[in-house]
Amino acid sequence: LAISSKYKSEFIANMSHELRTPLNSLLILAEQLEDNPDNTMTARQVEYASVILASGRDLLELLNNILDLAKAESGTVVADLSSVAVDDLRNALFREFEHVAQGGSLGFSIDVAPDVPQTIVTDPQRFRQVLKNLLANAFKFTERGDVRVRIAIAHNGWSRDVDSLTDAAGVLSIAVRDTGIGIGIEEQQRVFEAFAQGDGSTARQYGGTGLGLSISRELVTLLGGEITVTSTLGRGSTFTVYLPLNLTSTVAAAFAQTSESKGTVTHGRRQNEALDSSPFEGRTILIVDDDFRNVFALTSLLERGRANVLAAESGEAALAALAASSDIDLVLMDIMMPGMDGYETMRAIRLLDAFASLPIIAVTGKVMSGERERCLEAGANDYVTKPVDTAELLAAIGPWLPLPILVTPTA
Ligand code: ADP
Repeated sequence: LAISSKYKSEFIANMSHELRTPLNSLLILAEQLEDNPDNTMTARQVEYASVILASGRDLLELLNNILDLAKAESGTVVADLSSVAVDDLRNALFREFEHVAQGGSLGFSIDVAPDVPQTIVTDPQRFRQVLKNLLANAFKFTERGDVRVRIAIAHNGWSRDVDSLTDAAGVLSIAVRDTGIGIGIEEQQRVFEAFAQGDGSTARQYGGTGLGLSISRELVTLLGGEITVTSTLGRGSTFTVYLPLNLTSTVAAAFAQTSESKGTVTHGRRQNEALDSSPFEGRTILIVDDDFRNVFALTSLLERGRANVLAAESGEAALAALAASSDIDLVLMDIMMPGMDGYETMRAIRLLDAFASLPIIAVTGKVMSGERERCLEAGANDYVTKPVDTAELLAAIGPWLPLPILVTPTA
């Protein structure tokens, strides 16, 4: 069972990766359309473009969530431990949800019991991710009343067979209580399953995908803890996270090797407009990518900035293009390509004296930590992740293609 579950998780991780590739061109082009740089589209058409862009971003977020879950389940994520101040965690969470509470006219507080130590050892990023999920749900499913969080020392409440808690020197409990719609007894265990939602009408009424709690449960397990729920339909729910006070690396190490960070989508309107000032005038950029849709999307982006764009559909073709044309100023190198992959191609390019200092930006769909180092080691000057965000791409290219317009004229 464990093996088949691991294969399933690996399959999902691969599939999510494959899905990011078409999403890449979709997002880039929709963003360009929405910008309407030549003013050729009607307001209606611009609106269509923004709907496509917004849906694409939602899809990306969903993919990121599935990827998170698959990774957590496949045991390839390790906790990144550090000592964190409980007050800092509390204040960050409070700031983040204060305006949500105000917007919904709901009471909101986060109390820390006096016997809670000032610092705990855990993975702060994942700790926050779990609590953010729980708080987001609490606010989502509560129309009136309040959301109260209580951080305390617990002596019981968790399942005794969770050794990392039972054997811990102390256990921290974080209870998120709301006065919302509640969850029926039969549904209470099911809500932790992937894609499971309270009942058929939840998705229609509240949106969401049913992944948040599954991810939270996996992350809490990674942190050596447990998450429980008690709830009364129509009156509210309490989700409680139990965590060892001082998670040791031995506990965390039981959960395997690499950690990952996910690509985020940022908005780059200003950078898009910067494209219209022809920053790449007179520059030649070689795009190496086996997916013609990506080539098309990146080409349209760079051509908007007046770059002269060449494309190669494989590592071999990239080497041929470089040999044939001496005026290539920069290379955008896809990593996952059949035949010679991006790493190999970069290594081959760096072996040639003429291209020892040619700027190469790796474009990678692998969002694992260590990917940056792998790209730089293979010879890249920098890297961006797929789906490529325009602003990020321009920021990565910028330093390697000194823009003439930025050069201060000298006497
Ligand atoms: P999503 O919120 O995206 O549907 P989750 O995994 O976070 O996914 O939650 C699964 C389901 O659990 C929700 O659809 C909802 O039915 C139920 N649920 C979660 N948190 C609460 C809550 N605080 N109050 C009531 N129902 C909740």
